[in-house]
Amino acid sequence: MIEKLYDRILHRNPGEKEFHQAVWEVLESLKPVFARRPELLDEALIERLCEPERQIIFRVPWADDSGKIHVNRGFRVEFNSALGPYKGGLRFHPSVNLGIIKFLGFEQTLKNALTGMPIGGGKGGSDFDPKGRSDAEVMRFCQSFMTELYRHLGEYTDIPAGDIGVGEREIGYLFGQYRRITNRYESGVLTGKGVLWGGSQARSEATGYGLVVFTAEMLKTRGEELEGKRVVVSGSGNVAVHAMEKAQQLGATPIACSDSGGYVVEEKGIDLDLLKQVKLVERGRLSAYAERRGGAARFVPGGRVWEVPCEVALPSATQNELDEDDAVTLVRNGVQAVGEGANMPTTPGGVRVLREAGVLFGPGKAANAGGVATSALEMQQNASRDSWTFEHTEARLTEIMRHIHRLCHTTAERYGRPGDYVAGANIAGFELVEEAMVAQGLV
Ligand code: GLU
Repeated sequence: MIEKLYDRILHRNPGEKEFHQAVWEVLESLKPVFARRPELLDEALIERLCEPERQIIFRVPWADDSGKIHVNRGFRVEFNSALGPYKGGLRFHPSVNLGIIKFLGFEQTLKNALTGMPIGGGKGGSDFDPKGRSDAEVMRFCQSFMTELYRHLGEYTDIPAGDIGVGEREIGYLFGQYRRITNRYESGVLTGKGVLWGGSQARSEATGYGLVVFTAEMLKTRGEELEGKRVVVSGSGNVAVHAMEKAQQLGATPIACSDSGGYVVEEKGIDLDLLKQVKLVERGRLSAYAERRGGAARFVPGGRVWEVPCEVALPSATQNELDEDDAVTLVRNGVQAVGEGANMPTTPGGVRVLREAGVLFGPGKAANAGGVATSALEMQQNASRDSWTFEHTEARLTEIMRHIHRLCHTTAERYGRPGDYVAGANIAGFELVEEAMVAQGLV
């Protein structure tokens, strides 16, 4: 029956390979649930779970600094609102298409359920490439994007945030245009705002910090700790940098990270202040970081960061960036834990290799949920017109990550899959969303 259902989803959503991959992973891990609770194997329910409530596709015209006109495509997939208003980021990257946004929205729905916060799932973005664009160009693009999107948003309806290519700068331009069009200072309509104008402390740190907390919790189940371990991270954006920062705070050594040009390795540990300056402030290349470190760092152009031996690996760049061969290399080099900072960065083959080797594996929808959970904390602060300290916010984040870890761990055990966080996350997320959907009837 699961295979039949999946076949139907395949045919109904042709060509959306990332969406197929995300759906199949979830359906497959629900098998023990259906074996024990056959009443849940309700075709119509699963079909509804895999069909977005609403999909919006729109034209985004804008003019570059020379006056040339560009036309991009904008998306917002409002996937599921059983547990709360649609919540999820916006991705600006040339690879964006409907299938990518749907896979992200599907993952987001289950991820948001795991946080225990009242948020449904959605995702959006555009095939706009912000690389090399001036601030003025990015602003004009964001204003044009919001000029259509605003009518679909609202603090009780749909609340976007950042993802790849969308950070505080873009959220600022989007918020400004929303405020102008609606004549409302509706802080809770977007998250990831600047702290001065309604943003939450610790939001930019949250995904990376939460990822490391989750990974440390996984290690604890085997009597291990993070301290003293070598950590390799892919990517060097917001998630990657803050994962390295938290790992360092907990006594581990982040020794390598990457960008699309290659990777940098530094056995004594990456200089995080310089890395932040180059990647997050100057929006520069990792090769420039290595140059400024002189002989201390080695830059490997075009290399795969997973070649660097480590005990902990944190893929934090993009989907399907750690494949079967990478997993074999990691296992050969003695990796103990892999925590996904990005969404679906490990291919199904990669997951299989890690699982068979007994490596602790934290799937993105659980391990990287700290970002969206802190977005929900931002909404909470906005609703009460309050702002919390960094310490208070981080303490809530840590508590939420431990809760997610416990939930995945106990759920996996309950269904006879001890230590299988993929099963634990998918089953626990499904049970929560399913219960709310059934309670609310056929809508
Ligand atoms: N883009 C992030 C994610 O994948 C965060 C979304 C949000 O804060 O709404 O979960």
